[in-house]
Amino acid sequence: MSVNVTETVNDSADEASLRAGIVKTALEMERLGINQGTSGNVSVRWRDGLLITPSGVPASALAADMIVWLPLDVQPDAAVFSERGPSSEWRFHRDILQARQDINAVVHTHSNAATAIAIHGRDMHAHHYMIAVAGGNSIRCAPYATFGSQALSDHALQALQDRTACLLAHHGVIALGRDLARALWLANEVEVLAKQYLLAGQLGPPPVLTDEEIGEVVKKFSNYGLRRESSNSNSNSKA
Ligand code: 13P
Ligand code: ZN
Repeated sequence: MSVNVTETVNDSADEASLRAGIVKTALEMERLGINQGTSGNVSVRWRDGLLITPSGVPASALAADMIVWLPLDVQPDAAVFSERGPSSEWRFHRDILQARQDINAVVHTHSNAATAIAIHGRDMHAHHYMIAVAGGNSIRCAPYATFGSQALSDHALQALQDRTACLLAHHGVIALGRDLARALWLANEVEVLAKQYLLAGQLGPPPVLTDEEIGEVVKKFSNYGLRRESSNSNSNSKA
């Protein structure tokens, strides 16, 4: 199944289209089979803050006016938490968008194959050259911490060092992008890589590519596919 990336949401878009883009991304996550029920969440940078999915609402029940805006410097006692509550994972969405100026969108899923690897707390190494889509020779697994906690956010930020995706032990996946379409695409790629890793593992420990081989791929990806299109279409993009 391919990801629908024809309508990219870029950072010159207005708030209404970003809200619609979040709803569309949540629905697409379910269509792709990388998320279900109330699992997972989505955010996008907007002004000095972020637009984020509300907590505990399945994609099928989501509407654009339910999306919550938080300033990047939001305090945990802010009024927004007593109105329609933002995703319980607002801390890692906020912390990632604050720390990474190259990133405008964050997608979190509990996709099955990637989560199976995360249950074992394993990093995914370079069993396939596509591992480089996340920026290096591995997709790290952040240590376990309770969902919604600051500790989980701190672990995730560390696992995302020089990367645009990570696993969360006993939990799921975080994928980042310059816009929602790229973050969604990467979340799906991580799941494809995880399925391949699990299949290959049935024949023994998967052999991995060398750092040099992956370095070559990282270089080639700098002007490949979506990234090249985006540099033409998103004139004021941060990535
Ligand atoms: P929310 O419904 O609060 O976004 O939580 C879902 C989730 O995946 C928590 O990790
Ligand atoms: Zn989760």
